[in-house]
Amino acid sequence: MLFRKKKVEPVLKPERPKEVAAINETGAVIAALADPILVLDNQRVVKHANKAALNLFGRVLIDKNIVQCLRQPNVIDAVEKVFASKKDWIGEAKFPAPVERHLSIHIALIGNGEGVVLTVRDTTLVKRTEEMHSDFVANVSHELRSPLSALMGFIETLQGPAQDDREARERFLNIMIQEANRMARLIDDLLSLSRVQIQEHVAPDDAVNVTVVLQNITDILSLKAMDRNMKLNLNVPNNQAYWVQGDSDQITQVFQNLIDNAIKYGKPDTSVDIAIRTLDRLPDRNVPGVAVDVRDHGEGINEKHIPRLTERFYRIDKARSRTMGGTGLGLAIVKHIIARHRGRLHVESKLGKGTIFSVSLPAKNN
Ligand code: ADP
Repeated sequence: MLFRKKKVEPVLKPERPKEVAAINETGAVIAALADPILVLDNQRVVKHANKAALNLFGRVLIDKNIVQCLRQPNVIDAVEKVFASKKDWIGEAKFPAPVERHLSIHIALIGNGEGVVLTVRDTTLVKRTEEMHSDFVANVSHELRSPLSALMGFIETLQGPAQDDREARERFLNIMIQEANRMARLIDDLLSLSRVQIQEHVAPDDAVNVTVVLQNITDILSLKAMDRNMKLNLNVPNNQAYWVQGDSDQITQVFQNLIDNAIKYGKPDTSVDIAIRTLDRLPDRNVPGVAVDVRDHGEGINEKHIPRLTERFYRIDKARSRTMGGTGLGLAIVKHIIARHRGRLHVESKLGKGTIFSVSLPAKNN
């Protein structure tokens, strides 16, 4: 007779004490989190601080009292409030050094008051973006307000004191059309800028013949240059086609803005020299390129202004830019288009001699 085998119960290993496992896991989880986190016990001593927290605070925090770690009295008060009220706290703090940082801090109670967890989120970038956005809105409003005020002033004058003054009417209407054009240009530039910024993450892929683009622009702008007794010289080695990878309309806009500026800021009776050359490789990128230099013989630009020229509404001489019909957005548009094309813009200037704006774009075989 067969004996039925007795079912063997698996031998279970003795369980590790729960708390030990829990503490180890807590440490591992906290260490793995991307946002800075501090865990304090009920004596306000830091028990856990992950790498992100150490990076943010820049020093060892473990086993130190929170008062020694933070110099933000509102956060320290908030820790006390959370222990006392047993309710979470969410607030903001500013860390002034070494680089000013804006932080959003969340303090939550652990269990019944065994400790608290401070979760920190770096909101510096969001804050800076918000500030830039509101600066931009303020700038746009200001730029639109001045031509609008001028228009309203002239309308009132034409309705009242100058009603029957034919000569004044002619004069005022001329100014009014100029102011209205200024507003239209500003709106066009704002729309171009926002369109380019929306597309900036997608590099264009068409083949564009820069030689033809520059020939068309110089044809169109040579009339404007003639008004200032200036000449546009286009130098295309061997008169050949130079192909780049890009968006034809946007590349046209880049050189239109640069050549237009060279005419506006160049001296009367001088030339604007535009030259194409090939590049074995683009600056900072291992791909062949095509560079276009736009050189004027104007006042030149002081070195300190050069890094800021492509900021929206940055002008060295506001009044001069206005009388020349500038919106202060031309170079910002140029910068974003070139960034979209994964190209480079380089500015070199000598005071009293003039400026060269060089654009490098990735070459494309056609
Ligand atoms: P704007 O509409 O005022 O010309 P841009 O964005 O095109 O605006 O240029 C910004 C500023 O850069 C100009 O106001 C001017 O001060 C300066 N700038 C641009 N191009 C030149 C140049 N070729 N020579 C001297 N200054 C220039």
